[in-house]
Amino acid sequence: MQRTIQLFLILVFISGCFAKKQIEKISKPGTTSVTSPSAPARWNNAQIATGIDIKISTDFNGLFVDADKDGDGDNLFVQMFKQWNGTTNLYTFFETDGDTVANKNYTNISDFYDGEMGIYRSNNWFSNVSNQALAVTQFYGIRRNVGSSIEHIELTHADIIMNYRDYSFTMDSSSNSAYDLPSVLLHELGHFIGLSHESDFLVSSVMQPYLSIFDVNRAVTTADTSATRSNYNASLLTANNAIKALNTGIQEEKDPEEGKIVRGIIELRANGKCLHYVDGELVHSH
Ligand SMILES: [Zn+2]
Repeated sequence: MQRTIQLFLILVFISGCFAKKQIEKISKPGTTSVTSPSAPARWNNAQIATGIDIKISTDFNGLFVDADKDGDGDNLFVQMFKQWNGTTNLYTFFETDGDTVANKNYTNISDFYDGEMGIYRSNNWFSNVSNQALAVTQFYGIRRNVGSSIEHIELTHADIIMNYRDYSFTMDSSSNSAYDLPSVLLHELGHFIGLSHESDFLVSSVMQPYLSIFDVNRAVTTADTSATRSNYNASLLTANNAIKALNTGIQEEKDPEEGKIVRGIIELRANGKCLHYVDGELVHSH
């Protein structure tokens, strides 16, 4: 059922800057762009009825210690899942059983587009992803309701990969010598469920487009809760389904982009530079 055509999603990205802060961008490894760069991305109702089965690489096992467990006995990764689950009582974004999977040591990032979704570590990194990236979320989705007011990307697959070749991570929130892994994960999980960056740097949010080695952001904020609820509100999803049905019924009026599969790769960067991208093009750097 998967289409062979892959287009690459470009998101508009403009951000405020801080010295010594890290920033990320949307990379565009493909050759074709989509026409609506600002379309929101979300999972459909069925996928998040009981939680997405996102698995944790067994390569992280050694990092989970009893002292970090919460009252339910859940490790720090599952605690980050629960942070996003707690933003709405309409859906469960992530299963919280902490299922594990053997690490996948793919050298081609597109190979992660397989039958499992997970959180992995890479010791090799990827030729088409910057070595300035701490981590990436790669997602795939289907273009829905193209040209309408509720155009969006219906997410179908995503993975999070941490760059262990070039960076060090820690579970110790008091460490200032490595990146706080739960904080990196919480941010990437926000992208996993379709959130983009908080554009106002005065707003407290785990979706701020930077993370420094000193930052520990292990809890979503009221702004993150609002962003999630607006992306997944009930009336919007009802309207989405109605228009999807309409599109299925009137084939000849479908936009040619309708139903195409797109891919996005979002890098969390660690170079401390301020990079301003618009439609995937670098327009300003300082
Ligand atoms: Zn980000």
